[in-house]
Amino acid sequence: MTRTEKLLADLIALPSVNPAFAPQSGAAARQARHYGEKNMADFLASVAARAGFEVEFQKVLPGRANVIVRLLPPGKIRQTILLAPHLDTVNAEDSQFIPHRKNGRLYGRGACDTKGSVAAMLTALCELANAKSRPAETGIVFAGLVDEENAQAGSRALVGQASRLSLTFWENGDRRDACPTALAIVGEPTRLQAVTAHKGSIWLELKTRGKAAHGATPQLGQNAVHKMARIVDALEVDYAARLRKRWHPLLSTATVNVGTICGGTQPNIVPDRCVITIDRRTLPGETETSVRREIAVLLRAKRLSAKISSTKLAPCLPLETNPKLPLVRRFLQSVGQARPAGVDFFCDAAVLSRGGIPSVVFGPGDIAQAHTADEWISLDSLERGKNLLLNFLKSLP
Ligand SMILES: [Zn+2]
Repeated sequence: MTRTEKLLADLIALPSVNPAFAPQSGAAARQARHYGEKNMADFLASVAARAGFEVEFQKVLPGRANVIVRLLPPGKIRQTILLAPHLDTVNAEDSQFIPHRKNGRLYGRGACDTKGSVAAMLTALCELANAKSRPAETGIVFAGLVDEENAQAGSRALVGQASRLSLTFWENGDRRDACPTALAIVGEPTRLQAVTAHKGSIWLELKTRGKAAHGATPQLGQNAVHKMARIVDALEVDYAARLRKRWHPLLSTATVNVGTICGGTQPNIVPDRCVITIDRRTLPGETETSVRREIAVLLRAKRLSAKISSTKLAPCLPLETNPKLPLVRRFLQSVGQARPAGVDFFCDAAVLSRGGIPSVVFGPGDIAQAHTADEWISLDSLERGKNLLLNFLKSLP
């Protein structure tokens, strides 16, 4: 068993489900120990401290902290590289917290999303620290971030701190030779593709109002569900067709999905309200304002109307990092890629990028296995990911 695999198995056995997904009552609510990133953050801190690193926690939310591990270069720091995977996972069955190996795969919640990246990144850092040659002027920071799966509070706090400290993580103690973070590598299952672009995500709620009446005399009322049915049709047919024409070379098209619908109370009452929620995946250049405006224009053209509001806690913008930036180019070359890749899913990279840190997404495993009931990672991919990261870090000045 490799060091990376051993660490990943240990991490899977430490549940770190995002507390936002904790049920409020019932048997599952009693499994409180499954929720929150604390056990995992403490464990990573102890692994890193035993390996001789400086370790620090950044408080983000009550009981929830980013764990930060630093590798200082022997010389003056000229640049900093950030390795940034997230610690939290989505919900799981109890059996998914017991890692098991089968046919070259390791199964368990977080195996690919994104404890695999955590294990690959921290192991690469440990091996770099013990390597004969390591960067003379580049500082490496590993930041295990909380809350990516819900509202990205961890990455938002990290860039908040970074901007207060003029984009540095080094100005504590007597280290005044601080420098900006030149590149963040955000750990997510990208099948070891270096990703420079991903879509943004906007969640909107649309509400229609009608007029209640007796079910025997519907002509006296106004049916809010019927109004909404026409809106759903306009979104899923007309709007979706329009979005399919909007094209990005790395991301293909923007999309819309009507995810929930709720309206009416019982068969013999004309419903006076109906609500849908939609998930709109955006391309670089699209904003919440522009999306809301175009939906309003579409509805007006069809003589439909609805009250539109946002349901996201924080904006989730698209990512578009310039692949020509010297360090991004170097990373692409180092992992053997002629062209950068794009992915559909949103992640912390957009938050860090928005905070002023050029960011790429990279990690072992495939997003197709993320959030599934039998989540797994290929152990070959895991080890290869660790080695690719290690080689890149070793190549830095
Ligand atoms: Zn993830």
